[in-house]
Order: sequence, then structure tokens, then C-alpha cells
Amino acid sequence: MSKLHTFRGSCHCEAVTFEIDTDLHELTTCDCSICVRKNALMVKVHESAMRILSGAAQLTTYQFHTNTAEHYFCKTCGIYPFHRKRVTPDYYGVNIFWSL
Ligand SMILES: [Zn+2]
Repeated sequence: MSKLHTFRGSCHCEAVTFEIDTDLHELTTCDCSICVRKNALMVKVHESAMRILSGAAQLTTYQFHTNTAEHYFCKTCGIYPFHRKRVTPDYYGVNIFWSL
């Protein structure tokens, strides 16, 4: 297990800010119908390693198919910062491309 680093993320208008602790061991893209449109590079983190610092009320969710996954995006700027996963709902997939 490599060392954990804390990364700070935000949406584009910076209403939504958050931190994650990750060793970036597993970066993924996803071929589901929504992810191919977002073309996001994601890292999977447990909910205990994710802290929303501001803007929780700015987030809204989009759900489809089984309505299990929650795809969060900012109401103002439309950026997708993270989603709660369908198969492992106690994990977030976090949009990490901005911070690498
Ligand atoms: Zn925003």
C-alpha cells in the first residue's frame, strides 16, 4: 500500500470544494453511457476518505438505469466532481483529471 495523499478538488465556479485521501492506485475511465459522454478520468475512494468542504447544497444529482448510482454535478457551472457508485455505493468515483 503506497502513501496516501490529500487532493483538493472543486467544480469550475468553486462553489463546491472537497478533499480526498488517495494513493491514486486505481485510475479508471468508464464505458457506461454517461461516463463516455463526460470522458472523465476517475479515482475510486471510500466515503470515509472523501470530505465535502463547501457547496453541498449546490450539488444536484442525476440518476438513470437502476437509480442506484448518484451522479453529482454543480447547479451553477454544470461540472461533475464525483459520483456515488452503483455496484459499490459506499465508494465515490472522483473526477481527478484536473489535479494530475
Ligand atoms: Zn460550480
